[in-house]
This record gives sequence, C-alpha cells and structure tokens, in this order.
Amino acid sequence: MNSVRQVPDAVPVLIAGGGPVGLATAVELAHHGVRCLVVEPRETVSWLRPRAKTTSARSMELLRRWGLAETLRSRAPLAVSWSDEAVFVTGLLGREITRIGGCFGLDLVGSDLAAEPGQQVPQPLVEEVLREAVGDALLTGWQVAGLQEDADGVTVRITSGDEEREVRAQYVVGCDGPRSVTRAAIGAKYEGRQDARPNFNVVFRAPGLAERMPHGPAVHYWVLNPAQPGMLGRLDLKDTWWCIAQGVRAEDADPVQLVRNLAGADIDVEILATDPWTARMLLADRYATDRVFLAGDAAHQNPPYGGHGFNTGIGDAVNIGWKLAAVLHGWAPASLLATYESERRPVAADTIEEAARNMATLAPELADPALMGDDAEFEKVRPAVAEAVLRTKDSEFHSLDLVLGYTYAGSSIVSSGAGERLPHRWLAPGESLYDRLGPAFSLVGDQRSPGAAVVVAEAAELGVPLRVVDLPGEPLALVRPDQHVAWRGGDPSGAVRMALGHPR
Ligand SMILES: Cc1cc2nc3c(=O)[nH]c(=O)nc-3n(C[C@H](O)[C@H](O)[C@H](O)COP(=O)(O)OP(=O)(O)OC[C@H]3O[C@@H](n4cnc5c(N)ncnc54)[C@H](O)[C@@H]3O)c2cc1C
Repeated sequence: MNSVRQVPDAVPVLIAGGGPVGLATAVELAHHGVRCLVVEPRETVSWLRPRAKTTSARSMELLRRWGLAETLRSRAPLAVSWSDEAVFVTGLLGREITRIGGCFGLDLVGSDLAAEPGQQVPQPLVEEVLREAVGDALLTGWQVAGLQEDADGVTVRITSGDEEREVRAQYVVGCDGPRSVTRAAIGAKYEGRQDARPNFNVVFRAPGLAERMPHGPAVHYWVLNPAQPGMLGRLDLKDTWWCIAQGVRAEDADPVQLVRNLAGADIDVEILATDPWTARMLLADRYATDRVFLAGDAAHQNPPYGGHGFNTGIGDAVNIGWKLAAVLHGWAPASLLATYESERRPVAADTIEEAARNMATLAPELADPALMGDDAEFEKVRPAVAEAVLRTKDSEFHSLDLVLGYTYAGSSIVSSGAGERLPHRWLAPGESLYDRLGPAFSLVGDQRSPGAAVVVAEAAELGVPLRVVDLPGEPLALVRPDQHVAWRGGDPSGAVRMALGHPR
C-alpha cells in the first residue's frame, strides 16, 4: 500500500531510509528548522524484529535535547528503575553463577556523569517515537532506487511498486542500512570482516515464566550451559521475551526446543518470530561525496555486544544534521561538511573494535560442563567461572568511556585541547546544564570575561545563533549544537569561524 502523502518535486535534504538513524537525522534537521523528506519502504515498524534493546545514556541525552527522552521512557515496557543487572545462570530456571550491576548506564539516574541514564527499550518503540516526531516528513511505501549528483544538487529516483518519481535535493543522507543503495551509488565500499558463527534470535511468549524464574529482574540472563549457551531478556512485563543463541544455524534450529533448553525446563512457549543474523565488523571506506553522506549501518556495522549499533548512528545523525543545517542556513561554508567523515569515521572504527572485543567471550566460551553437575561440582567450579565472567564481560556492560567519552579532539573545527562532550552537571533539581544550551551554538561560562564580547560579536557578524549561558566565575567554552566543546579559554578571536570551518 502506498502512502497517501504527495511526493514533493524538491526538498533541501532527502534521507534514504527511515530506520532509527534516518529518523534521528530528520529530527535533528527539524530541531534546526530544516525541511527534509525521509523515504522508507516499511509502512509500519517491525515489532517482531526488536534487534536493539539498549538506548545508551548519550542517545538519551540527545533525545532529551529533542524533548523526546521522557516520551520514550514513559512508553518503555521496562522502567529504568526495574533493573540494571545482568545475571549469569545455568538456565533461566537454574542456578545463579554471578551478576553484574550498573549495566549500560542504567544506574545513572540523577548522576553527575550524564543528564540521562540509559534505557532498555525495544528498537521498534524507538522508531515509533521518532516516526511520530518526524510527522509529515516521513514518506512510507517508497524506496530510493538510485541517485545522480551534480554541482548544484542530487536527483534522487524513488519507486513504489510500478510508480517512479524524481526528487531534487540539495543534500542526501543515506541511512538505508547494511545493503545501502546510497553507499553503492557513491562508490563507497564496506571494508572489514564477519564473524564465522551464525546467530539465531527468537521472540517468544511464555506465560508464567517470569513468575517461575528465581533470579529476579535483570536486563540480560546469560545461560552458561555448554549444551545450549545463549542469552535472554524480557521485552515487556507481560510474557514476551527475546533470546539469542550463538552458533545455531537457521536450518538446524528448533526454536521451541531452543527456548526450553535455555530455560532448563519444558515450559509452554509460543514462538512469535525468528531472526537469523551474522555479526559484522564493517566500515565504509569513505562516508561522503560533496552532497551525499552515509550514516548508521549504511556506514558501519558492529557486533551487537555492548549495545552500540544504532547508538553510534544517532551520533552520526546529530553530527551531519547540525552541519547540514549550518550550511543551508548560510552560517557555514560547504567545506564544513567534510568534517562529518573525519569526526565520525574514527568513532565508528573504535566502536567496531570494542564490540568485536566484547564478542570474543560469549556464553559458549564461558560455559563449563561442571556447572551442570551436582551441587558440589557446581560450587567447586562456580568461583572460577564467576571470575572469568567479571574479568571478560565488564567492558560490555560498563562502556561509558566510549559512550560518553568519545571526542572530536584533533578535528580541524575544534581548538587544541577541546573536542570533548561538554560535561553535564545539575544546575537545579532536574535541570541539567544541557537544558540551558541553545539549539545552535552556546557560549558557556563567565560572560564578564574579556573574551565573551569577542565571541558574541563574531557570531553576530556571521549570523550564527548563539545562546549565552552565564556561569559566573567559570572559564568560557564555545559549545557546538551537538554539545561538544569547540573552543575553550585562550584567544577568542576567530573561534566561531574556526568552529564552522570558515577559512581564517
Ligand atoms: C541482535 C541485535 C541486537 C542489537 N542490539 C543493539 C543494541 O542493543 N543497541 C544498539 O544501538 N544497536 C543494536 N543493534 C544494531 C541495530 O539494530 C542497528 O545498528 C540499527 O538498526 C541501525 O539503524 P539504521 O537506521 O542505520 O539502519 P536500519 O535499522 O537497517 O534501517 C535502514 C532503513 O532503511 C530502509 N531501506 C533499505 N533500503 C532502502 C532504500 N533503497 N531506500 C529507502 N529506504 C531503504 C529499511 O527499510 C530500514 O528501515 C543490534 C542488532 C542486532 C542484529
């Protein structure tokens, strides 16, 4: 069924793909008052293919910036207070080996480290909230079939069944996932490797399982039974669960038996969906031409361990979104757009390597036959397995260095010593420093400092919106729209020009 929406002839930005990253790019553009069109074949989100469940603390901060964090949290089936633990067991109904707390930044409620804790929430719900925010800019039932770039813009061919149209855009962002048509159209290639082991996801309903389970609330249950290792979790507080089994080929899989093996008992199971997948460590050899940019899985893919995939894509969306807005509004020269690749590609490379390290030790590697023996055998081996879990899995569940700590240090548009995310802090109960920042640039610090007037005057001269946030006694920092520090202290002359990529 085609969407009833009219296809426009021209639009400033066309986004190929309305997965989480395409939708986030559209929300970021709207945040800066830039019109776009998101072209997406799926009429509705894929509820039975939940994939990502972890929205990181950093993505939640960015959702807060769009005014969507509370909406997402209030609709998430597992409240952030419900659990921040991962439990390692011999079976869902079996014995506990050990547990890890403070997973995925879920414990950062009210913390000085982040304005928002992480949130466990199935990917389709994230997409639904973003679809609502994007509104009319989303064109479903259509897909991008090809594109042609010239000096003034891009002509994009879109199709829906037998229908075909052309849309003229000044810029295109390709968020069309792993098999990206956009990536092929600009001649970019994925480079990297894939894991040899197949994986098999199951979404199932198991009435009463949660009540029978002795381990209490947890966001992950890892089953270290060598006969059937894997991981499970709840999708909601009713009876819906997900599980992933490593090393299971789709053609050999018996989903009911698989779930029963992970549970460790012949429980009642209704299979709702299955989804085989392979972990990939891939990075596009380049991210962009002059007018076409790749974001999200179209540009990079990493194993899901650590929950980084779409979260890295949300970072891409914000980075390319504000830069396109700056160029389209005339605050910045088009050369600013080249810094999208130079800033984001290294973050993706680091994320791929961290996720690959997380994948090196999974349930099959941690499983031990002695865990399945009698109580004495279990107790004998338990401390060594628990120690191995804590030693090898800590970085998968505690990765704030990457999630909050990535920087753009060394980028041509940040001054020496800058580039990091502006540290969040609470100014009043429930009010983060971030809530005071403007949608574009902000000058944070003591506005009586001699440099303040220089920065304010330079922004005015270039027509760059600048919000002034007076923090008496504190050094000045010029903060970019993505909350990263472009310049701090030192000589203020030319700071705004530098941050927007103007020749100095
Ligand atoms: C088992 C598993 C668990 C995961 N867990 C996590 C997690 O906890 N946290 C996390 O951050 N990530 C996780 N991920 C990764 C996450 O699912 C992906 O990184 C994420 O979906 C990427 O979003 P995207 O929008 O870039 O691409 P996609 O979600 O692939 O979206 C691409 C969109 O483009 C559309 N499209 C395709 N072709 C075209 C075309 N020609 N024209 C227009 N549109 C097109 C598609 O319909 C789709 O909607 C997990 C992945 C797996 C497999």
